[in-house]
Amino acid sequence: MMEDKFQSADELGPAKIFHVQEPSIGLRATLVVDNVACGPSIGGLRMAADVTTEECFRLARAMTLKNAAAGLAHGGAKSVLYGDPRMPREQKERLIRTFAYALRNEQDYIFGPDMGTDETCMAWIKDEIGRSAGLPAELGGIPLDEVGATGWGLCHAAEVAAHHCDLTLRGARVAIQGFGAVGKHAARFLAAKGAVLVAASDTHGTLIDPSGIDVAQLIHAKDTGKSVCDHPRGNKRDRDAVIDVDCDIWIPAARPDVIRDDNAHRLKAKLVLQGANIPFTPGAERTLHQRGVLIVPDFIANAGGVICAAMEYQGATQSSVFASIAEKVGANTEMVLAQVQAQGVLPREAALDMALRRLKRAMGYRRFVIF
Ligand code: NAD
Repeated sequence: MMEDKFQSADELGPAKIFHVQEPSIGLRATLVVDNVACGPSIGGLRMAADVTTEECFRLARAMTLKNAAAGLAHGGAKSVLYGDPRMPREQKERLIRTFAYALRNEQDYIFGPDMGTDETCMAWIKDEIGRSAGLPAELGGIPLDEVGATGWGLCHAAEVAAHHCDLTLRGARVAIQGFGAVGKHAARFLAAKGAVLVAASDTHGTLIDPSGIDVAQLIHAKDTGKSVCDHPRGNKRDRDAVIDVDCDIWIPAARPDVIRDDNAHRLKAKLVLQGANIPFTPGAERTLHQRGVLIVPDFIANAGGVICAAMEYQGATQSSVFASIAEKVGANTEMVLAQVQAQGVLPREAALDMALRRLKRAMGYRRFVIF
């Protein structure tokens, strides 16, 4: 079923919107293919009880910009499936397979994992229609959260950005909000460069230790189901105390809109690497920029995951994926920050400008009709 929702469209997209419903099994899902000028779109399937079509639109556009900025041969899209991802496995599998089957002819979309879906879900889709990335290793996949693709990219963004704000990674104090797939690998790669993790948080609270947290030990604890607050050393504070921590580098790796006009003044870092998507409101980014805080925006800094998924889809090996992430994220960070320095614009403005220039050139090669 296609819906007439052109009021949300602009010159970039969306190209197509699909709503899929199968009341007999409780399936309600949406796919927004935003822009396919660079190639078939790739974007995650998000499963949650409270997802909205509006969220799907925003996330699809974010993928268009992220993929274009990363120079991938893929457009941007996002799909959402309404339901609790912790429902019984058979029920979840039926919903995901039915949704994928309904889109079996939609060659312009490749499914990827996102909140509420994982490599097993991608394997069901691969089995059903053959078009998914982020697969289990047995199917030729590169488990991007396990290998830390996004954390690896963040570390390379950090290396480049450090030169732009008088920091050296050796000895730099790092605080991370959200010690999950993105946060813990960012900590691991940065620690290997000599950075010191001084704070990490999760939904239960914040762990703070100015003398340095043992990253390997903390990752092991998280992997065995513990909270950062169960760590034997350091001070334990509430969840939002991570915002006030005295540090050089602050990495949001949890939820959107965590730094806003009302709490931006609390951040003490010189450099922010946005691991999460849209973690700061536009107003907060502007205030911090004016205060001299350097921010590497989300769709530049956290592109490692989608670069990994896109390359896996083409059959690449893990080592070539890691080399590409380092090269692409490092080069884009340099390009964006050089423009910030030369023109005094916000990093997000420079990043948008770069992504849009690439996208519009790609759109110029297309025929008008996309079907
Ligand atoms: P995850 O679920 O593995 O980890 C998230 C962590 O954040 C968990 O430890 C959770 O306890 C914690 N958390 C949740 N809310 C919090 C809060 N309010 N304060 C402190 N901690 C909180 O998720 P992830 O894959 O690491 O993704 C994190 C963010 O990065 C998401 O916004 C995601 O969309 C984005 N992102 C992820 C990838 C990827 O490769 N996984 C790529 C790009 C962007």
